[in-house]
Amino acid sequence: MNIPCVIALDGPAASGKGTISRLIADAYGFAHLDTGMLYRGVAWRILSVGGDPGDDELAAQNARSFSLEGINEGDIRTKEVGAAASVVAANPDVRAALLEFQRLFASNPPGGEKGAVLDGRDIGTVVCPDACVKFFVTASPEIRAHRRWRELVKVQPTLKERAVYEDLVQRDARDAARPDAPMRAAEDAELLDTTDLTIEAAFAAARRVIDGVFQRSKG
Ligand code: C5P
Repeated sequence: MNIPCVIALDGPAASGKGTISRLIADAYGFAHLDTGMLYRGVAWRILSVGGDPGDDELAAQNARSFSLEGINEGDIRTKEVGAAASVVAANPDVRAALLEFQRLFASNPPGGEKGAVLDGRDIGTVVCPDACVKFFVTASPEIRAHRRWRELVKVQPTLKERAVYEDLVQRDARDAARPDAPMRAAEDAELLDTTDLTIEAAFAAARRVIDGVFQRSKG
């Protein structure tokens, strides 16, 4: 039996990892999972019933019964849900509950695809440490805040770029400092700094790395 190839992309918010992941998945015919969506989904469910994302028991219960059903992209992409997602993501019981879902996706990509692309914070370090290619995608906080603000202001017109910047810096600090599966680059990850790169250039750089790995594994 062939083990599906997993491509892992980790990195901070708005580094470009989500867009690059989708492009990689399309180019190689792999399934794609944005794992941030799982944490956002749990956070959104809690917020939508007026719950507190910092309530560990409530967050763990929500994660254990998690399903993607009924989750709407537009609802979970807000700044508030992002901040609440990073609070629930620091809860080890939430992470344990979502780990199995992610590993199952990686080992059995939906649609019978021959591989999977997962993006998040701990894919190369914890979820799929045996991934065949790993990237850590980053960019300066200023450029990341600017990119995120440009996306969010379309649906939240009064949003200030400064508020997005502060939120992002706070979220990165929380994601990097949590004891359980903190955001960090795996030792064998390729570093991809997108600060001065267009999305096309970043994707081309990622492709060169992936093609090199595939070539070597054939030879
Ligand atoms: O990537 P995105 O901004 O949608 O992620 C939202 C939050 O979910 C992150 O700030 C992080 O706290 C959490 N997350 C995580 N591990 C992942 C993916 C996301 O802790 N693999």
